Amino acid sequence: MNKQTRITGGCLCGACRYTSGGTPLNVRACHCRRCQKTTGSAFYARVMVPFDGLQVDGPVSWYEAESGLRRGFCSQCGSTLFSARASAGTVGIALGSLDEPNEFEPTEHIWTSCKQAWLSIDDGRPQYDEGIPLPVTAR
Ligand SMILES: [Zn+2]
Ligand SMILES: [Zn+2]
Repeated sequence: MNKQTRITGGCLCGACRYTSGGTPLNVRACHCRRCQKTTGSAFYARVMVPFDGLQVDGPVSWYEAESGLRRGFCSQCGSTLFSARASAGTVGIALGSLDEPNEFEPTEHIWTSCKQAWLSIDDGRPQYDEGIPLPVTAR
């Protein structure tokens, strides 16, 4: 994945809209408890893009969910939209909020140690108990 991709989307009520012009970095489904809580769902599937390529319109609220990670949601309807990590300069965009939700598909499942028991993952994609270990050079 190395082409520049224009991504558009928004929240349920339509008050928040966004456009990303940056090159997508990865697409993952995260099954950790924090992502379950923030989405109110079984997992959080997101495409990660450079934060500086993201343009947002509307009443997005940002919540510091853990050290260094802010979650962005519509303050009007509550839709989960973003997960931004300032130290990496990246932001995850919730796949469910995309105008074209089938434009991307996750290439890995992460934090499957927290996966909900009813969910069977049989799509053949790699699964990681926790996050994907970063190569030392990538830190
Ligand atoms: Zn909304
Ligand atoms: Zn997570």
